[in-house]
Amino acid sequence: MPWAEKRYSFHKGSNSDNALDFSKRSSFIRDILLEKVYPNRIVLPMQMNFGVPAVPTVEVGESVTIGQCVGAPRPGSFAVPVHSGISGTVKEIRDITLPNGIRCPAVVIESDRKRTFHSSVYPRQDVNVSASKVRGIVKDAGIVGMGGEGIPTIAKINRARNLGVNRILVNCLQNEPFANCDHMRICETPEYIVMGAVALAGAVGVSRIDFLISESRKDDLAALQNAMELSAGDYSGYAFNIKFFKERFPQGYYGMVAKALYDVDLQEDETLESRCGAVMFNCSTVYACWEAIADNLPLTSRIVTVTGANFESHNVIAPIGTTVSDLLATVNGISRSNNRIIWGNCLTGLEITDPENTPITKTTSAVSVIPKKEIPVSSCIKCLKCTETCPEELEPGFLYDLIRRGITNRAEDEGARKCIACGICSYICPSGIDLTGAIASFAASLKGREKGKAFYAYSNAGKIDLGGISLLEVYEEEETEEQVTESDGFVLPFEGGKPV
Ligand code: SF4
Ligand code: SF4
Repeated sequence: MPWAEKRYSFHKGSNSDNALDFSKRSSFIRDILLEKVYPNRIVLPMQMNFGVPAVPTVEVGESVTIGQCVGAPRPGSFAVPVHSGISGTVKEIRDITLPNGIRCPAVVIESDRKRTFHSSVYPRQDVNVSASKVRGIVKDAGIVGMGGEGIPTIAKINRARNLGVNRILVNCLQNEPFANCDHMRICETPEYIVMGAVALAGAVGVSRIDFLISESRKDDLAALQNAMELSAGDYSGYAFNIKFFKERFPQGYYGMVAKALYDVDLQEDETLESRCGAVMFNCSTVYACWEAIADNLPLTSRIVTVTGANFESHNVIAPIGTTVSDLLATVNGISRSNNRIIWGNCLTGLEITDPENTPITKTTSAVSVIPKKEIPVSSCIKCLKCTETCPEELEPGFLYDLIRRGITNRAEDEGARKCIACGICSYICPSGIDLTGAIASFAASLKGREKGKAFYAYSNAGKIDLGGISLLEVYEEEETEEQVTESDGFVLPFEGGKPV
């Protein structure tokens, strides 16, 4: 299949030539299939999404099965259903605080080691489902964006339909140092990604699908190409495209995709949908959508990269709610003494001190273990490395100095609120200055967000209008009879269905 030769990118950032090549020093080992973890208990937070918490629907002592709903949204709330990834007994329902500052109820389930599935989980015999059915499945399965903020996928679909986009983008651009789980997902189950993309395109009402891939990921390309070619006849109504990007962190970020692909600098009230006519889904989210459609399995597990210095990195499929300590126990050779445990990727994650009670959530793509080193901090030597790499084209050293001296108006004028907390400036600074901590916190405070709570606090405050569309409204959107009839006419092209 011939693909365009163009390579997309944005200015600055960091590539393997200038700093962040250490992912190549960490080899990944795996079996033929991904390793799976079956924990003895899970701690299932009721909020793993952009929005507000769901309400527990089970009681202490109740038996639950895999795929059973244990938390449901209050009517009219921007919450997402939560399902159990293990079978067992509800031991406790208590409030927890996640490392990102979210405080919500959590359902603690102890495993019965039987791995019993709920009666509603079964491979769907006929996946030739309508677009409106896809939307219903995605909403009920509790699927959220798994690569970032956890925006409910149904809200994104409906916002895109309201704004009238012309394509979907499948984001396969995972290029944080050490992170590998999305690539593993693509290589292991490319057919689920391709079919999920077609289903989402159908749900949005478009026929064009662009896969965004780093040029260095030849294995991702080969896997997706193979899956497309094998099923080419089934997708005759759809146009697939592959867009190659230079390997550069943080290329996969929302705003960086807009810059690279459309040469557009998105403003705070703009989205890819409203400005560029495209809606983007992370490839793991796309996988989860197809798993919900084909296997009738809600979002109950995810791949997590367990990585860091001094041991071989692994990708592990874990039930959502698995604690970080149980996850780390699956990998040989990890010592917790003299190491810091990071909930997330090593550049953008948050350090945790209670791994026994900190769960992985729908959006946790990695757990990193890095050496406890006291980095000596010295004065800025004006090397300008931070300015040369900031993907938002800010001057981090200068901004840091303004914020430290309390000259906040000037810091705001210099664009501090554009900081996306990518962490590159802190990583690259030879003086060991925590530039990201200062600038990202200041940017969050400018946007009315508390440190560490980022978008979640923002959404709790009800300010969830992006791109001129209220996410809550589109999340709650009920389809009229007319719309259902119209969209039911759009048949997904599987098992003999004909696209229109
Ligand atoms: S953390 Fe903010 S200031 Fe630092 S490089 Fe990233 S975007 Fe720029
Ligand atoms: S990278 Fe560090 S030392 Fe260099 S200019 Fe920026 S703040 Fe100063």
